[in-house]
Amino acid sequence: LFREACPARLIGVTGSNGKSTTAAMTAAILQAEGRTTWLGGNIGTSLLERLDQIGPDDWGVLELSSFQLRHLSRNVRMPQVAVVTNCSPNHLDWHAGYAHYRAAKQRILAGQSTGDLAVLNTSEAEVACWAPLVRGRQTPLVPQGEIPMLSVPGRHNRINATCAATAAMAAGCTSEAVRRGLGAFSGLPHRLESIAVVRGREFCDDSSSTTPDSTAAALESLPGPTWLLAGGRDKGLDFSRLAAAIVERSRGAAFYGSVREQWCRQLLAHLPEFPCTAVETMEEALRWCWHRSRSGECIVLSPACSSHDQFRNYRTRGERFVERVRQLAQRLDEKSPLQRRD
Ligand code: ADP
Repeated sequence: LFREACPARLIGVTGSNGKSTTAAMTAAILQAEGRTTWLGGNIGTSLLERLDQIGPDDWGVLELSSFQLRHLSRNVRMPQVAVVTNCSPNHLDWHAGYAHYRAAKQRILAGQSTGDLAVLNTSEAEVACWAPLVRGRQTPLVPQGEIPMLSVPGRHNRINATCAATAAMAAGCTSEAVRRGLGAFSGLPHRLESIAVVRGREFCDDSSSTTPDSTAAALESLPGPTWLLAGGRDKGLDFSRLAAAIVERSRGAAFYGSVREQWCRQLLAHLPEFPCTAVETMEEALRWCWHRSRSGECIVLSPACSSHDQFRNYRTRGERFVERVRQLAQRLDEKSPLQRRD
């Protein structure tokens, strides 16, 4: 309905990881260019009820999930600029297998017209080989020199920024707008968000991580020794690469939720002496990490799973974590107050 009625030009962003961040970065650049910009879709707000405010000179940036792409009817025209950040197995508890999931993602390209533009993150082999599916023109990724210093950490965020800059420049934005838009981008809540320092331990909320790949990216991005809280409902994804990242990058891991026993067993099979535990709740996992951690270390919630066995969604999961850390700080009568980016 929105696509049919929307007068604005649209940029659509999909991928297994980094959709929200890339969509928000793209919108930040468009805004820095002075464009009236509407950010919506899977990122949290439907733009359907804003239709009467959206004009033909505006730009819309839509985050599109595999479910949304799958449920769109075949003849829906996809956005004029389509961005694919990456693709790896996800939501296999719902899709009929990886091929089914990938085909849903690929609909963003199949539904474009010949005059449209596609931005593929060609630094990922899986997405690089989707080039033959592009119906319009594929826009090459902009050189790294275009991307300023970012305040959000990690290599994955530089990749997200590169995709966003490429999409925004394909939409006519200047290098200057890229520099200003990305330079001022301070990140989204629940994405590697530093929430507090308590007795020298930094607490980090990465609740929006719902895949093993995104938790591996989080562990690679955090400086220094890390204690990991992970778990929730299994989506049928492979844990082995994350197991290797945990052993290499963290001091210990506490698993909670329905996946806990399975992942703890798999981690111990990887390295029998590795400090890890399987507990029922996130609170117990937090206690376990807290008691073992030392000043100078980081305690991160990066669940790698869906939240739906114990929480309404990843936001309520992140809020609960922040609340528990706040209570811990209060109990210890911490002098430095809890700081949040928002
Ligand atoms: P999505 O909207 O696809 O779920 P987000 O931008 O909300 O992605 O990021 C979710 C989590 O995924 C982040 O907390 C971060 O740990 C991780 N992440 C973000 N971008 C990437 C990327 N390009 N590759 C791998 N992991 C990423």
